[in-house]
This record gives sequence, structure tokens and C-alpha cells, in this order.
Amino acid sequence: SDPRFINKIIIITGAGGNFGCSGCLFFLRRGARIAALDVDQNTLNETLAELESIATEDSVIAEGTRIKGYICDVTNSSNVDAVVSSIVSDFGRIDMLWNNAGYQGQIKPTLEYDPADFARVMNINVTGMFIVLQSVAKQMSQQKADGETSHPYSIVNTASVAGLRGTPAMVAYSSSKAAVLAMTVSSAKDLAPHGIRVNAISPALIGPGFMWTRQNELHAASGSPYFASNAEDVAKAKIGGVPMKRLGSIEEVIKSVAYLLSDDSSYTTGTNLVIDGG
Ligand code: NAD
Repeated sequence: SDPRFINKIIIITGAGGNFGCSGCLFFLRRGARIAALDVDQNTLNETLAELESIATEDSVIAEGTRIKGYICDVTNSSNVDAVVSSIVSDFGRIDMLWNNAGYQGQIKPTLEYDPADFARVMNINVTGMFIVLQSVAKQMSQQKADGETSHPYSIVNTASVAGLRGTPAMVAYSSSKAAVLAMTVSSAKDLAPHGIRVNAISPALIGPGFMWTRQNELHAASGSPYFASNAEDVAKAKIGGVPMKRLGSIEEVIKSVAYLLSDDSSYTTGTNLVIDGG
């Protein structure tokens, strides 16, 4: 376990996905108690089943720690408010939020991009992220107003280097992640007086695994002149452009999330931690 996270109540959205599932395991092993949220019942159940099977062999997880899954659509504010209330009645309070659910949208050049998909990406990645941030921050602020002093509140939003640099054939995703960065800075200012820190992470090339391979296949098929037409060449060119000449691991992403969620970063708010190998 880890004194930074023992008995901390952490909400993780997108818990059925790659980052979310690994994050649940990482923080459970460190003694946290997790509310795992996802809109997709199947992937959420897979995460919970995987953690349960590990828990039976892992005494650190089995002893005195707990995880609970909640089906939640981040774009639906009454759904989110109801889930936040359930979490408070199940766990007693909320200490930290990893605001991580996301949708990458189509991989198509700007001239061919479907405006309806653009709106969907913005709705999930921006409006949905805001709805969760606001609902959880209201709860945290109430806890502080009620006199809670021992729980410094912290929120981490998952952005992306796509929001800083603009990835070809991902105009909606890049726009949404740039908005996440602005949301992080602005909400950090509003929430500082309430004792809540808000920061972002911006991962770049993370893998290996299904997401990395699939992404390269989609880029190869996108028709964009910035990508080779076969996935292996796309992968080579991407890694060739990284100063450290390798992919980042999910563990490296989550260690950055842990830094920003924990008191290790107690004087840091409104910042963006880039995880991109240079
Ligand atoms: P993923 O697709 O495996 O997981 C995303 C999860 O979000 C899924 O389980 C999905 O069901 C959930 N989700 C989608 N819409 C939702 C909604 N309306 N309500 C609730 N949940 C919803 O992706 P991942 O790789 O784990 O990515 C997690 C986050 O990291 C995303 O925000 C993504 O944009 C970002 N990111 C990923 C990478 C990468 O290389 N994988 C790089 C940079 C940023």
C-alpha cells in the first residue's frame, strides 16, 4: 500500500477502458477505495471481473480495500448527479477524481469529417468531462463546508498531446482535448478557494496493445498524406519522431495521474503534465 492513497475514495471514469482498468488496479493496490464508472456495462464488468480475480491472489487488494462499479453516462447530468449521490452513500465521501472517460471519434481528414461525429466527440470529451467535474466538485466543496479538513481534494482530467499539437485526421478529438486543457486552467481558478486542485495529463504514444495497433491501422487507412498507407510504417514513423524512441506504458501514465491526484503535488493546480517521451 501507499500512504498517499490509503482509504482515499477515488472516482475513475472510463473505468472499463484501457487506462481506467489499469488505474483501478494501481490505486486498489495502494490501499484506495474505488468508484469505477463507465457507460458500457460489458467493459465495466470485465474490469470488475479482472480485479476480482487478482484480488483473490493479491493480499494487498483482498485486505480491507474495495471497489464498486456504477453504470454512468458522463453526458447525462441527472445520471451523473445520481451516481455521485450513490457513491457518497456507499463510501461516505469523495477525495479524488480521475476524469478519464473519452471517445476518439472518426479518423478522417478535415474535409471528410462528419459534423455529427464532431458534435458527439465534443459532447463526451468536453461537456461530459465538465458535467462530472462540476458534480464531483460540488460534493467536495460541500464536504469542505461541512468542516472536513483532512482530505485535500484533487481532480485529474485526461487530455492528450493531440490538444497541444493537433493530430492530422483527428480534428474533433484534437479540438476536444484543447478544450479540456482550457477547462482545467479555468476550473482550477474557480475551485482553488474551495480547496480543490484541478490538473490535466497529456499522454502521447502509449502502448503496445490493441489501442496502439488499431490507431495505426486507422491512420494508415485515413487517406491523410501525413501517414503511410500501412500500419507498420505508420508505427515506425511515429516512434521515430519521439526523442526517447519508444512508446510510453500505461503504468507511466498512471504514475503521473498518481502524482497529480496525491499531496505530492500539493502546490500545483491548473497545470498540464505531458507524458510524451520528449
Ligand atoms: P478506451 O476507449 O479504452 O476507454 C475509454 C472508456 O470511456 C471506455 O470504456 C468507454 O466506454 C468510456 N466512455 C465513452 N463514452 C462514455 C460516456 N458517455 N460515459 C461514460 N463512459 C464513457 O480509451 P483509453 O485508451 O483507456 O483512454 C482513456 C482516456 O485517455 C481518454 O480520454 C483518451 O482520450 C485518453 N488518451 C488515450 C491515449 C492512448 O494512447 N490510449 C492517449 C492520449 C489520451
